[in-house]
Amino acid sequence: MTPDDIDFDLRHIWHPYTSMSTPLPAYPVVSANGVELTLSNGKKLIDGMSSWWAAIHGYNHSTLNDAIKKQLENMAHVMFGGITHPPAVALCRKLLAITPKPLECIFLADSGSVAVEVALKMALQYWQAKGEKRQRIVALKRGYHGDTFGAMSVCDPDNSMHSLYKGYLPNHLFVEAPQTGFYDIWDPQDIVPLRQTLEQYHQEIAAVMLEPIVQGAGGMRIYHPEYLKQTRALCDEFNVLLIADEIATGFGRTGKLFACEHADIAPDIMCVGKALTGGYMTLSATLTTRHIAKTISQGDAGCFMHGPTYMGNPLACAVADASLALLETGEWQQQVSTIEAQLKKELLPLKDAEKVADVRVLGAIGVVEMKEPVEMAILQKRFVDEGVWIRPFGKLIYIMPPYIISEKALTTLTQAMAKVISHN
Ligand code: PMP
Repeated sequence: MTPDDIDFDLRHIWHPYTSMSTPLPAYPVVSANGVELTLSNGKKLIDGMSSWWAAIHGYNHSTLNDAIKKQLENMAHVMFGGITHPPAVALCRKLLAITPKPLECIFLADSGSVAVEVALKMALQYWQAKGEKRQRIVALKRGYHGDTFGAMSVCDPDNSMHSLYKGYLPNHLFVEAPQTGFYDIWDPQDIVPLRQTLEQYHQEIAAVMLEPIVQGAGGMRIYHPEYLKQTRALCDEFNVLLIADEIATGFGRTGKLFACEHADIAPDIMCVGKALTGGYMTLSATLTTRHIAKTISQGDAGCFMHGPTYMGNPLACAVADASLALLETGEWQQQVSTIEAQLKKELLPLKDAEKVADVRVLGAIGVVEMKEPVEMAILQKRFVDEGVWIRPFGKLIYIMPPYIISEKALTTLTQAMAKVISHN
């Protein structure tokens, strides 16, 4: 890319959460292969982010490339209204085989946020079809579910965009986030706020919505499976639905194929996205039970009211099908547990550093929480100088590398974190 291209980008193209008048630098990446991103000046960076949880098998993967190329020769896209096609059916068969048993009906959506919108609409239509006016969602503080309006309305109310869009967002209920860490001794007090909220408002509540085990963009918090177990039990006790947002956690990232498995529970509605296509294309899915799907279909509308133009895009389904086939080999389990062991060995000692508040590791996720917020642009540049791609936010410096990362490359990432933290 020429300096002129970079200048054009700065002046005309919006990047995620970036000012148009004082934009943060955007690094020009011209190719990616395995766990490396190549900048236009030829510099190679080891990727610690998997393109925001998605590229679990690494970049430019021959199996995934071939799946897209083969599908492209048949058709890139066709509408899903009144039409079906082999890649959608193949993908959905595989999805049903690996997700919790009671989930039987799949809605293919365009992105994580849309999968969340779909989940919320399913919950609302379900209660409407049953003749009950239940429109409130219970969500967790520190949660994050996406940037569209419905999704924003269930994100942490303080640490998000609620104040910015006050008046536009529905008034949902928020409970304290679980405090007991994944490896801590379970504190029964943790579940009390959810119980109290359900006791008080259950007749108005359509669903409890949460990210199972790992609260991602809202703070990279890793909580105790007992919280999830008891949440499931409370949802049953008070007859409200449970929506699990597995968009970040799904497909092996936490050491289980889905984070719900840590608590051995099944949600009523589940959202997946991000790694669904192995990081190749945007695609998500919202899964639900036959009972919920049937109830919605017997309601006034007679159907579920959603149908995006690119629903079930064949290219995306084909590459997702190929990505799930790679997961089916089971190799990811060894890869993720090896990464977990190495992250524990190399990151946990950083807990003793003066400016570090906490270090957390689960599966192929390593998080260093600093005591103070970091200067993102400065740290980003230091990481690039160290030959790694790590993008911190707030107080968090964290990695979730592709599962195929070598021991040596992972050490380069953790050493860069240690170095940057010690000079921060
Ligand atoms: N839910 C969770 C848990 C997420 O981490 C994200 C993305 N960061 C989303 C939903 C939204 O997904 P998308 O960015 O694909 O809309």
